[in-house]
Amino acid sequence: MTPGPVPVKTIFETKEELIKYVQNFGISHGIVITIKGSSNHGRFSNYLYLKCDRGGRYKRRSKSAPIRLNTSTRQIGCPFELRGKLVEEECDNGNLKEYWHLKIHNSNRNHPFLAKNLIAHPYARRLHEDMKTTIESLSKSGTKSKHIFRHVKSNHVLVTTRDIYNQTKSIKLKNLAGRTPIKALIDELSNDEEWLFHFHSDTNGHVEYLFMAHRTSIDMVRKYPTVLIMDCTYKTNKFKMPLLDVIGINPCNLSFYVGFCFLKGKDIEIITCKSKRIYTWRSY
Ligand SMILES: [Zn+2]
Repeated sequence: MTPGPVPVKTIFETKEELIKYVQNFGISHGIVITIKGSSNHGRFSNYLYLKCDRGGRYKRRSKSAPIRLNTSTRQIGCPFELRGKLVEEECDNGNLKEYWHLKIHNSNRNHPFLAKNLIAHPYARRLHEDMKTTIESLSKSGTKSKHIFRHVKSNHVLVTTRDIYNQTKSIKLKNLAGRTPIKALIDELSNDEEWLFHFHSDTNGHVEYLFMAHRTSIDMVRKYPTVLIMDCTYKTNKFKMPLLDVIGINPCNLSFYVGFCFLKGKDIEIITCKSKRIYTWRSY
């Protein structure tokens, strides 16, 4: 048993701040610190127990479970342990102030502290809740995974591109809530009064086109309908539906978006209510 480095900071405003500090301390010294015991209710809510992930011994989940042979365990009885306690203190003005105090219960360890590479350790790579919130907001705003990765990497050195990809995928699945992506898009557009849209499905329920335009764009095109530029963008989605962009030009020679249309084929007729038909797009 040899004593290892210990955290220097001992006072924290919240329990979350304490956990984050201790886990970052562990990562910088090549160990993974996990929560041994914690409670949000009852008298134990004032205490927090933290240990090295190599502490404890392997236990069978139940006595009836068969003994597994030829297996290995990370748990080698490392005694390194920290304890956090919620302290109430009276301030000079008579008010009570609460803070978390970190105490080193056992600084000994029975293995080297500087592990070669913690990137292979799933617990060390785990994303904190605030990081998950950041990833969700960046993902919703359309930021690509590689750019999210660069942003998160600056705060969390062990994160990998695969972690970011998995997190964005689970966010997308949660938002879809069992719907297909096109159904989710139509639901979003239905709930947003700022967007006007129209779509058509074939007898099998497959979408043949989906046209959408923002109300501001419609006001603009009513004012400046003289020149419209239309072009298809390919490879925008996995369904291989081309996206037709309609762009208008104002008198100052500046362009503005009029609308977008996902197309099944290359041909589309844009129809208005008044004249029944004004533009036909055909790609040759
Ligand atoms: Zn340890």
